[in-house]
Amino acid sequence: MYTAIVNSVTNVAGEFHVAKLKLVDPKEMQFTAGQYVICKIGPPKGNHTLSIASAPSQDGTIELLQSVAPMGEGSKWLLGLKPGDPVQFLGPLGKFVLQKESIRPKVFVATGCGIAPLRGMIMDKLSVVSHQSSESKNSLKAESGELMTLFWGLRYETDVFWKDEFEGLAATHPNFRFVLTLSQPASTQRGEPMDAWTGAQGRVTEHVIGETPDLTNSEFYLCGTRGMIVDMRQLLTDNGVAPSQIFTETFF
Ligand SMILES: Cc1cc2nc3c(=O)[nH]c(=O)nc-3n(C[C@H](O)[C@H](O)[C@H](O)COP(=O)(O)OP(=O)(O)OC[C@H]3O[C@@H](n4cnc5c(N)ncnc54)[C@H](O)[C@@H]3O)c2cc1C
Repeated sequence: MYTAIVNSVTNVAGEFHVAKLKLVDPKEMQFTAGQYVICKIGPPKGNHTLSIASAPSQDGTIELLQSVAPMGEGSKWLLGLKPGDPVQFLGPLGKFVLQKESIRPKVFVATGCGIAPLRGMIMDKLSVVSHQSSESKNSLKAESGELMTLFWGLRYETDVFWKDEFEGLAATHPNFRFVLTLSQPASTQRGEPMDAWTGAQGRVTEHVIGETPDLTNSEFYLCGTRGMIVDMRQLLTDNGVAPSQIFTETFF
């Protein structure tokens, strides 16, 4: 069992909230990007499962991303957290992690809060580059490593968060590409007028097949709703991707 202290809880957009936790006992946790923790939230639900949305390199801190759309016990628990509150959790758990030895191009596909474990994986992979000296950093950037593409589907413009962060990574890492697609770009949750959305539109599943250059040689990390994962897996296998190259985490 780990004990952490809440550093902050921030509403990053729409239904999405990010909790930053500082580990206090023990002060660090060894984990592999993509794993999850089970938080103790008291009765009646007792436990609440959340992926670690940060990379292992963040010494002594972890980030959790919560969609409060369902507003069940877990959502209410996270919304009620205040800086300084203690949080207890079990972990790290789960096998949704990058294939260690593989040099295949990586394609990450998320809907909504399914971005959480994928963000950890992407940050972890790219931080290998950012930890080098500037000379070797430049040469690594030029060589780029395996191609990584993130396809992320959100619903509304008002849902958008972490866009600048992923666009920044894409701008500084030639091997990383980011596609953010909105399924309902013209509408907002509160019906307020917004600037026209100039990015990708439609469901995330509509983009992956046509926009992945080396489709059958790539490996796929899918995270989010059961519906997206079932549809995406079917599309991938229909288009010749071996099932052994598809890795999934179903949130609900
Ligand atoms: C391995 C794993 C990792 C997970 N990681 C995360 C994570 O990083 N962030 C996160 O927000 N959730 C994550 N989940 C889902 C999480 O455990 C909760 O189900 C979810 O956060 C809602 O919690 P709740 O207690 O508010 O509602 P619950 O009582 O769990 O759910 C109420 C109902 O809403 C459905 N539901 C759950 N989530 C959503 C949603 N986002 N939108 C619409 N309906 C939903 C459930 O299927 C259920 O029918 C993960 C689940 C698993 C199994």
